[in-house]
Amino acid sequence: MLLFNNKVQLTKHLQSISVSNSSIGFVPTMGALHLGHLSLLEKSIQNNNHTVISIFVNPTQFNNPEDLEKYPRTLESDIQKIKSISDAILIYAPTVDDIYEGNTASRRFDFDGLEHQMEGKYRAGHFDGVGTVVKRLFEIVKPTNAYFGEKDFQQLQIIKKLVEKENIPVNVIECPIYREANGLAMSSRNERLTAIEREKVAVIYKILTQAKTLFLTETCASVKDFVTEEFNKHPEIELEYFEIAEEETLISCDSKELNKNYRAFIAVFVNKIRLIDTISLK
Ligand code: AMP
Repeated sequence: MLLFNNKVQLTKHLQSISVSNSSIGFVPTMGALHLGHLSLLEKSIQNNNHTVISIFVNPTQFNNPEDLEKYPRTLESDIQKIKSISDAILIYAPTVDDIYEGNTASRRFDFDGLEHQMEGKYRAGHFDGVGTVVKRLFEIVKPTNAYFGEKDFQQLQIIKKLVEKENIPVNVIECPIYREANGLAMSSRNERLTAIEREKVAVIYKILTQAKTLFLTETCASVKDFVTEEFNKHPEIELEYFEIAEEETLISCDSKELNKNYRAFIAVFVNKIRLIDTISLK
């Protein structure tokens, strides 16, 4: 297992091991690894000659300073989890300076409106931060395939748009959401929940699956009303938004159209900890 804090050393190493036609799989993360992250790593290992994981809590994508400060940082146990999958995975855990070179700021991006929906409305500048760091990481790692989770479906669509608009030669591979046995989508932020809260927030997925069933017969508006009413029964969970949107454009659904794929998106706060989840309505 090799750990790099410095992009020059990482790129030198990647050049030294690359032979013609060898592929690099890349899994960008912010650490505090869980089985969801590890499922992305496993997919990368299966399909590439080399796999790189980055662990970097990117300051420019946090709109809330307390969220950035409290974001779990667990490099030692992350390394052990990565090792348990394979000793051959390369870890890139850069400093802020290695990525931003003294200018910790985002570039502004135009993602054809994807950035203005949902997370974009509630987290100002978030996707400029994501676009900035992912573009930089792609330039450093030069991956053949990059693995992203559907858990952050809006982010996934934005990365696809970034790759298209910036002509970056990488295949973006989407990976399914890994959940706890009670349905809770795995997330590094779950670390901050108490055991009791972890059980209570299982209701998020329960309501999402009920919404999916209702969507078969009901209008978008009445599904939204149902979800709002359900969360009113759980005052310890504050609903930030529930949205039904078309998967490609992420535009909110007014009336259902045939041949369009819809997806439900949700963001909640539990004791100031923000959780998101999503479910396909196909
Ligand atoms: P993060 O460390 O939260 O930035 O996530 C790094 C990558 O792992 C992103 O592509 C996420 O979408 C993905 N990811 C996070 N949670 C899950 C999960 N529960 N299942 C699958 N992928 C996930």
